[in-house]
Amino acid sequence: MEAARRLSAGAIVAFATETVYGLGADTFNVAAIEQIYALKGRPARNPLIAHVAGTAEARRVAAVWDERCDRLAARFWPGPLTIVVPRSADVPDRATAGWPTIAIRAPAHPVAQRLLQAFGGPISAPSANRSGHVSPTTARHVAEDFPDAADLYVLDGGSCAVGIESTVVDLSGAPARVLRPGSVPASALAEILGEVATPDLIAQAAGPGTAPRHYAPGAAAELVCTAALPGRLAELREPAVVLCLDRGSVAAPHRAIVMPSSPRAYAARLYDALREADACGRSRIVIEDVPQDNSQTEGLWSAIRDRLRRATVG
Ligand code: AMP
Ligand code: MG
Repeated sequence: MEAARRLSAGAIVAFATETVYGLGADTFNVAAIEQIYALKGRPARNPLIAHVAGTAEARRVAAVWDERCDRLAARFWPGPLTIVVPRSADVPDRATAGWPTIAIRAPAHPVAQRLLQAFGGPISAPSANRSGHVSPTTARHVAEDFPDAADLYVLDGGSCAVGIESTVVDLSGAPARVLRPGSVPASALAEILGEVATPDLIAQAAGPGTAPRHYAPGAAAELVCTAALPGRLAELREPAVVLCLDRGSVAAPHRAIVMPSSPRAYAARLYDALREADACGRSRIVIEDVPQDNSQTEGLWSAIRDRLRRATVG
């Protein structure tokens, strides 16, 4: 397989996963890891997720892989759950940006799984976008973010089905902590782990990879609750593009991008819609805040709101 051959030769490749596209390198090749940081413009202290085929490979990069990890992996792998544990001494410092822990995930997408099988080792990969920009959910998004990297190989797997990044749970301390909400809800983790902390990471902005501004479009973007939306749009002088849940709330000269009403479909559409909004060329993007979660929505609206808040801070 061409992508696996390139990884073995020390090159970086982009590949589809079920969450977002990743930009991958051999975890054990420091020069290849450095290419990821250079191409993305990624801050040096922001660590990468090691993608693995399964728990056997996870054990290769972890110093501690206990029975809680096995239970989580049995329930959620392959899938959109990243597990943070102490890092094995075999893993180069650069692969975790110097942090003593390592984030590990087994992706479910068949393209990612085929790549991992063909390569035969862990692949460190952040999202395949310029640092701080909107994450990519199609191969075209990846190409758009790196117009100068014409030789970047992209393993196309279509549109990402989940569409937002994995849930990250940190098991390196007690109790376990959710470091990034995703489509695996904290409540499902708590069924296996017992107590799980869910700190407000946007307010804290401390620790690996928790910069509050992230996933951001180029235009000024703001998050507005449904009740305040008509008033806010009326007071804007420039025509804005509005990610809304109902077209009726958006009057001319503003332009509506109507988002799906189910949280699964909303998540799958979100990053493409933010890119579409940016491409409209208007100076302002207004995003209607999403509903509160109920017993059916499994924390997904909250995971989406986390991305919306990060796209609109500062
Ligand atoms: P990205 O794939 O671009 O979303 O970036 C990977 C993200 O995984 C980081 O921004 C962190 O949120 C998380 N992560 C990776 N490694 C670690 C780690 N060692 N400890 C905590 N979080 C991590
Ligand atoms: Mg990212």
